[in-house]
This record gives sequence, C-alpha cells and structure tokens, in this order.
Amino acid sequence: MVIVRFAPSPTGYLHIGGLRTALYNYLFARHNKGKFLLRIEDTDRTRYVEGAVEELLKILNWCGLEYDNTPTIQSQRLDIYKKHVNELLEKDFAYRCFCTPERLEEMRNIQIAKKQPSKYDGTCKKLSKQESDKMASEKTFTVRMKMLAEEISFNDVIRGEVKFHGSLIDDQIILKSDGYPTYHLANVVDDHLTGITHVIRGEEWLSSTPKHIILYKYFNWTHPAFAHLPLLLNPDKSKLSKRQGDVAVEDYRDKGFLQEALINYISLLGWSTEDSQQIFSKEELVEKFTLERCGKSGAIFDLQKLIWMNGEYIRKLSIEELTRRAIPFIQKSGFDVSDFEFLKKCIALEQDKIKTLSDVPNLIVFFLKDDIIYDEKAMLKVIKKEGVIEILKNITDIYAKIQNFTTQEIENETRKYAESKSLKTSQIFHPVRVAVSGRTEGPSLFHMLELLGKEKVLFRLNKIIGE
Ligand code: GLU
Repeated sequence: MVIVRFAPSPTGYLHIGGLRTALYNYLFARHNKGKFLLRIEDTDRTRYVEGAVEELLKILNWCGLEYDNTPTIQSQRLDIYKKHVNELLEKDFAYRCFCTPERLEEMRNIQIAKKQPSKYDGTCKKLSKQESDKMASEKTFTVRMKMLAEEISFNDVIRGEVKFHGSLIDDQIILKSDGYPTYHLANVVDDHLTGITHVIRGEEWLSSTPKHIILYKYFNWTHPAFAHLPLLLNPDKSKLSKRQGDVAVEDYRDKGFLQEALINYISLLGWSTEDSQQIFSKEELVEKFTLERCGKSGAIFDLQKLIWMNGEYIRKLSIEELTRRAIPFIQKSGFDVSDFEFLKKCIALEQDKIKTLSDVPNLIVFFLKDDIIYDEKAMLKVIKKEGVIEILKNITDIYAKIQNFTTQEIENETRKYAESKSLKTSQIFHPVRVAVSGRTEGPSLFHMLELLGKEKVLFRLNKIIGE
C-alpha cells in the first residue's frame, strides 16, 4: 500500500510550492488508494512561530486536502529521535561534536578566505570513546553523522538516476545542542516509522537525499522511493519569490480565488496529461494523476492564467453558491449583507465579469450604496454634452409614470421615447446608465434599473438633472 506524507515546517503561511507538494502527495495517495499523512516538522526552535500550526491546518482544510492521520508533531517525539541518535553513536556511525559556534565560524571564515568549500574539519571525529564520554559530562555538544566517502546513487521517480559523491558532503549535525534533532534525522526516522513508501517533495531537497540514504543504510532500513518535483519559477524564470508577487496560499484565498480554481491551477505546475487538458475537477485529478506524467523542468507560475481559470470556475458556480462565497468580501468592504436574495440578484447581473471574489463589492457598489460616486470622465463624456440633460428630464418624467417598474416595461418605454424623438438608443442608454450608476460600464441596463427600483432610479436621475 502506498503511504505518503506532507511534512511542512510551520512558518506562518503555506507557500504555493508547499501547496503543490501537498497536492501531489494527496493525489498520488488517492489515485493509488493509499494513505496521505501530515507531519509537522517543527524541530527548528529558532524558526518557531506562534499559531503557525493552527494556520497551516486551517489553510489545508480550506484547500480540501484531507489527511488520514492525527498529525505527527516532531517536537513531541524528542525521545524517539534521541534513541535513534544514541544507536548511531553506539555503532560509531555518528560522533559528538564539542566545537563551539565561535570555532566553527572561525573555521568557515578561513575556508572562505582560502576559497575552499566550507565543511566541518573533523576535529571531534578523532576523539576516542573515552575522551568523548568524559567531555560529554562537562560540555554541551551536537551529534554529527559520519558521511561516507563513496558514490551515493538512487533512482528518482521523476529524474531517473541521480548521483552524489559522499566525499563532498559535510558530516551533518543530526542532534543539536538543545536536544532537538535536525531535519535530516527526524525526517528519516519518521518516514521509516510511519511506513512511507514514496517521498514526494520539492527539488530543493534533492541535495539532502544522499544524507538520508546514508542514514537509512546506517539503520539498516530500506529507503522509500524518492520523487523530486521541479522548481516553481517566476515568469522571468527566477525562483518563485515574494518579491515578484504573492507566494502565500492565504493571500490567494484572501484575494478571492476559489479553492477549486487554485487547486486546478497548481495541479498543472509540473504535471500534465497527454492531451494538455486544462480544467479538471478534483475527482478527475485523482483519477488521472501519476508521477510518470510529472516533468523535471521548472514550472512557471503564471498569475494571468490563474486569474483566467478562476473566472471560469466563478461562472460555473450557482448564483446561490457564488453569493455565499462573495459575502465575506462584501462584508469586508463595509456593506450590509443581511439581504441574501437582493445580493443574489446583484451578483447574478455581474457573474460573467467577476474574476476574483474581491471584485464583487466594487462591481455591485451602486446597488449597495446611496451616495454613488460619479466617474468624472464619464460625466464629461456622457452627461455634460449638449442636449443630454433635456433627454434625461424627459426620461425621468416617463419613468415616473411607469406603474410596473420591470425590465420589460422600462425597456419598452425607453425605446418608444427614442423612436418618437428619432434618437439613437445609445443617446439615451449611456446617459441613463451614468446617471444611475456613476459609470459607463456595468450590467444589462434595464435589468439594473429594475433591481435598483423606481425610487432610487428617479432619485438619482433627479439629482443629475437638478445640478
Ligand atoms: N520540512 C520540510 C519542508 O518544510 C520537508 C521536506 C521533505 O518533504 O522532506 O519542506
């Protein structure tokens, strides 16, 4: 049975690259009817962020990536790691290092000055067992694993054969002086103890893999299969970074991207089907996802494509559902959201124009607010033209007489008036639109008038003709 895991270090937000890793693990597990586990890798206390784990669980939940376990929390398993470190010490696969941070720093500076690779110089490796035991009772120490000066190769599911030479790799610290394990040790121990069959993670972890393989060898465990996903890139091919846009999934959620659209878009960053299909439901992704169809070249994060895809998903939602999802955004803009039916009608008129949920308040603002803002350019171009006020005066009189203020009636009366004065319809439609909404663009005019209602329409027309 396939068992995979997502193993984030809680940093306060979920990186888009982290979501891609989580998603691919999830899809791989579901496709193979296996298990998707969550593990919190929080052993680096210098990076501890209050509330980060809760945030992480929340955003994974929003993304719909359900995991199959009670999350493993590494900081609660220190004894297990210590036991494994001791085992390596006993077997002489690891040694205590008593070098102070100052000494290590000095060593590094000398190596840099000599243009040598920075690497631990092995001073403490030479200590005898007795010396080491004696010093351990007096001083703080870290534990380092011994690297092997041999070629380490493995078959990456995505990249094929990958080779490293052990002689170029440092004797990694596996236990820090604060008693916490480092990533390498905790990661390998937990992957083994939870029966992980496939490690699917970002390319940035590729260079850690030979260290892990040596650890598996020392423990006499078989290592899982490894699949390293391609880097995510900015459009200029540099590594996806904060400087060129949002990288936190939370930001996309808060900007009004739909979870389904984001998942669909992210699924394509490194994976594709033979026929280059673009739109997938989650069920379809589960059905079609395989590691064999993952590429190894960097995947560009294209915001414009995500926006396009989001629009596609927004148009597929029922008005009811779209309104439900838009409400927090309308509320955040300070509007009353108690009249669900009314909001539904407003949103229905704009559904084809909405790209993200955060567009909604602005698109329907003239339905929600009485003192609408008139676009200055629109006023100059459309209202302050000769004859326009006269037309609007006539229209106001005509609308005042309409008993049944419906789309159909308003349209009939407006067209009748156009004919009687031999006016082009646009000579009437444009000014009416600007007068009641403040803008030159918006939803279908007569639907908009009906929804605003006679009272508001007349009030706004009177305001314009009175000025
Ligand atoms: N804690 C690592 C991370 O933050 C996990 C890497 C791995 O999957 O091995 O991405």
